[in-house]
Amino acid sequence: MQHPAIPIALEAVASAMAITRQVQQHVEEVAGHLKDDRSPVTVADYAAQAIVSMVLRERLDDPALQRIVGEEDTGDLQHADHTPVRAAVTQAVQAWRPQASESQVMAAIDACNHDASGDLWWTLDPVDGTKGFLRGGQYAIALGLLHNGHVEAGVLGCPNLSIDPGQDPASADTNGTGMLYAAQRGLGAWEFKDGDLSASPLRITCPAWSENKAIRCCASVESHHTNKGQTSELLSRFEQNKVMVRLDSQTKYAVLARGQADAYLRLPTRNDYRERIWDHAGGMLVATEAGAVVTDVRGLPLDFSHGARLEHNRGVIAAADGLQQRLVEGAVAMGIGADDT
Ligand code: AMP
Ligand code: MG
Repeated sequence: MQHPAIPIALEAVASAMAITRQVQQHVEEVAGHLKDDRSPVTVADYAAQAIVSMVLRERLDDPALQRIVGEEDTGDLQHADHTPVRAAVTQAVQAWRPQASESQVMAAIDACNHDASGDLWWTLDPVDGTKGFLRGGQYAIALGLLHNGHVEAGVLGCPNLSIDPGQDPASADTNGTGMLYAAQRGLGAWEFKDGDLSASPLRITCPAWSENKAIRCCASVESHHTNKGQTSELLSRFEQNKVMVRLDSQTKYAVLARGQADAYLRLPTRNDYRERIWDHAGGMLVATEAGAVVTDVRGLPLDFSHGARLEHNRGVIAAADGLQQRLVEGAVAMGIGADDT
């Protein structure tokens, strides 16, 4: 890791991760207090975006590195009936920085409103996998640095991923402190156990596919994020045994990157949906730099040069080298993504 912004991005994500974990541990209390079942994820989302925004904008001098295309803005939060939610978001941020005021927190969230123009900026998903967050499962905090349409650096926080690669990644490890990943284009991908930035990072690799093993395949839990029928059909083209691992968020990319799975399939459910850059930038780079291969369902590289969406891609096929090419061949033979608009 040579890019000077990576250690700061890691610090930003690690700080946000500690706060989202606290909110997740009190999901019922927060939901009960705010009388809304979705409020815990709302609070975690906004608080994480505020923290990452504050760290990056305070610590990086280059104005281009202060531009962030974040998933959230405070539009909804500003309604009068959301006063308690604003207070809860501020309180969550104050657990990290006691002196932060509500107006500073709101301003930090809204500072992530870059329009994806220019040649250098971050994209942030403060809580990716909101459904996973709410069900006490996997979710991720994902940050990608876009440079001339390429992902130059990626940081991925997986607060509920176990250190132990022998543990089923589909079940959340709420006893540990989560895992942190960083990648730099052309240089590799690294893992920080327990989210501990003071420990030396471990280089991670996704081993090339070996034909004599079962295929362990990650996919979304949510049926409308990936086509489950076509996933089974595509995998049925392989004679190996298959093990499906269903988990939310870009943690799927981390699980592939550390060799805990052989593939991550995200087959389109609608022909008009375009993947959002913040759902892929950080995770895609971690997986690619670990040696996995990531393309869309037609074998095209993910193209981050068209603003906030992957306008020219459909779905994702990410897998160990060797297997990935065969999965794309199968998807093309099945006509997946071929008739899209
Ligand atoms: P996952 O946790 O992998 O299921 O992905 C969560 C992400 O799916 C969210 O952050 C959404 O941005 C995204 N999403 C929403 N609708 C769709 C869709 N129709 N197809 C694919 N992804 C979607
Ligand atoms: Mg997301």
